[in-house]
Amino acid sequence: MSADTIAIPGIAKPASRIALGTWAIGGSMWGGADDANASKTIDEALELGINMIDTAPVYGFGHSEEVIGKALEGRRGRVILATKVGLNWQDGKVFRDSRPARIEEEVEKSLSRLRTDYIDLYQVHWPDTRTPFEETARALENLVKSGKVKALGLSNFSPAQMDEFRKFAPVSAVQPPYNLFEREIERDVLPYAEKNNLVVLAYGPLCRGLLSGRMTADRKFEGDDLRKTDPKFQQPRFGQYLQAVEDLKAIANKYGKSMLALAIRWVLDRGPTIALWGARKPEQIAGVDDAFGWKLDAEDMKAIDAILAKDIKDPVGPEFMAPPLRA
Ligand code: NAP
Repeated sequence: MSADTIAIPGIAKPASRIALGTWAIGGSMWGGADDANASKTIDEALELGINMIDTAPVYGFGHSEEVIGKALEGRRGRVILATKVGLNWQDGKVFRDSRPARIEEEVEKSLSRLRTDYIDLYQVHWPDTRTPFEETARALENLVKSGKVKALGLSNFSPAQMDEFRKFAPVSAVQPPYNLFEREIERDVLPYAEKNNLVVLAYGPLCRGLLSGRMTADRKFEGDDLRKTDPKFQQPRFGQYLQAVEDLKAIANKYGKSMLALAIRWVLDRGPTIALWGARKPEQIAGVDDAFGWKLDAEDMKAIDAILAKDIKDPVGPEFMAPPLRA
């Protein structure tokens, strides 16, 4: 990779601006796991110069972390490991839980599954507004002091929530949804991150495959794949998003790039971002190099906005993914 990198406060080595997202590798909500392919995907990512992997305990209820821990045996030091905390589950039902006791339990489980004695970036997965942020922040700050965690991040937090949390512990990164079709953070989280020197780990940069350029209207989703109920993948809206992709391809062509490279480049050109590219097969990330070494100019940024406004009559955000609060 003609690697573009970014510094994350508290983490010694710079991170590649594309990180491997491993939700699908966990299997659940993505139609099942395939560990052999997952392991090859991690090998391929490292080979291509990606040095950051993002995961979470909830991805496959521990499975994603386990696969990563196994794949990284003997070379853990090469990678910036980002995982999360602050969700819990019972009988397969997920809910927010950032109580200190949950954090203390979860960190040990993550360290064990990841086969390591430290986590580079530990992110609160969703704000648990039933637990005072002070309690969550102080429990996490203790993990930083003990060396189990190098830096903290907040995912799916609003600026007001981040302000409250940051009174009690320093934060290095945020993790919101961000892609060509999900731009809500431009109103608040993105300017907040820029002002406060927080790196933005943009999740869903391919909008769950919609922006890969290979999604078709007749694609069948298997088993528990979340796209069976994702509102963007339901007609007639699905057709509007696919039409936008067709029109965006003309802009990608101007640069001699694929649609997928355009989607990733767009995220990288919008601020201090890292694109969390979700992949579960090695061939899916083969095009990493294509996203580096070029930039979208201002005129094409405007042309992209015009395509989105013309084609997507009935836009919808990623809110359907939000887990409930604790009972
Ligand atoms: P994504 O990166 O937008 O899309 C990933 C999906 O796109 C893949 O599973 C694959 O679907 C398809 N894809 C990827 N490369 C492709 C290629 N070359 N050709 C065709 N299709 C391709 O979505 P995401 O996994 O939801 O998000 C990325 C990461 O962000 C996650 O893995 C996770 O680490 C993080 N995330 C965090 C949160 C949070 O709340 N903090 C929420 C969501 C995601 P198929 O394999 O089905 O074809």
